[in-house]
Amino acid sequence: MRKILVTAVTLVLLLFLIPLLLPGPDKASPQGTPPPSSAQKIEDLSSGRTLRVLLDGTVREMDVNQYLWGVVAAEMPASFELEALKAQAVAARTYAMQRAQWTNQSHPDADICGDHRCCQAYISPEKAAQNWGSKAEENTQKILRAVQETGTEVILYDSKLISAVFHSSSASQTLDAVQVWGNSVPYLVGVKSPEGDDVPNYHTEAKISAQDFKKTFLTAHAEAVLEGAPSGWFGEAERSAGGSVSRILVGGVPVKGTELRTLFSLRSTAFSIETTDSEITFRVTGFGHGVGMSQYGANTMAKEGKSYRDILCWYYTGVTVAPCPAELWNKKPPN
Ligand SMILES: [Zn+2]
Repeated sequence: MRKILVTAVTLVLLLFLIPLLLPGPDKASPQGTPPPSSAQKIEDLSSGRTLRVLLDGTVREMDVNQYLWGVVAAEMPASFELEALKAQAVAARTYAMQRAQWTNQSHPDADICGDHRCCQAYISPEKAAQNWGSKAEENTQKILRAVQETGTEVILYDSKLISAVFHSSSASQTLDAVQVWGNSVPYLVGVKSPEGDDVPNYHTEAKISAQDFKKTFLTAHAEAVLEGAPSGWFGEAERSAGGSVSRILVGGVPVKGTELRTLFSLRSTAFSIETTDSEITFRVTGFGHGVGMSQYGANTMAKEGKSYRDILCWYYTGVTVAPCPAELWNKKPPN
């Protein structure tokens, strides 16, 4: 009887002791955080601030960093270096928070939208995973890290959120904002940009028949004189340091490189022109407006060992990268 009692007490004691001896879920790593190998979830990203995001016609209330996951996934290839993805996350966060301070006339009920022509691109986690196929989990975690590790960091100039514009690739030199949009911005000035050798379609050609060129150009500038051979239609181009066309005479009319880019759907303003009697050929370098951070340049810098802060401070002159001050983080559009 006594033996049975001792055995019973021992068993009960063991039942209480075993859980204490084994590592519980909170003891797997210090501070109760899951080990780094375990997968994080996008819906666990929490920044403490939400945005009203217009997606496919519906306004959704989303945490800033959950929204940013979809922006980074849409705006930059996931194969890029982690530091480049972090630079993109901070630039996109800055852009979004700056937009969120004012009422947007195109969508007054939403702080930002997922249309890259209006705000910045966004892709849902489901759609991104579909595009990535077997790389879905790896890419999801990589972008999650880029967003999470930059917390609430933004880019500031003169204690204000900057207009963090970016583009795909430059012609080895970014452009001054004044050259593209007509207004000077102290932190958007041209800098050298190491684009690297793996930019897809870095050099492209756009061919337009002389007839179509004439028709399109005369619609915009009826006063232009486009007669005789096309070789006589173009003056010498004024170029920026990187070779982008600032201004050029076409049929006697001075036009900006940006206007020709729009009229003929060129990938950038870094172009040269060749003519035959029947055809105009634009040879174009890079892709995008050329102002602010170059994404491919950022990736090259990351490969060279530069941090996301180095990258951002290189492309945006005179800025600081810091957690967003509370008064800017919480600022909402005036009612
Ligand atoms: Zn928008």
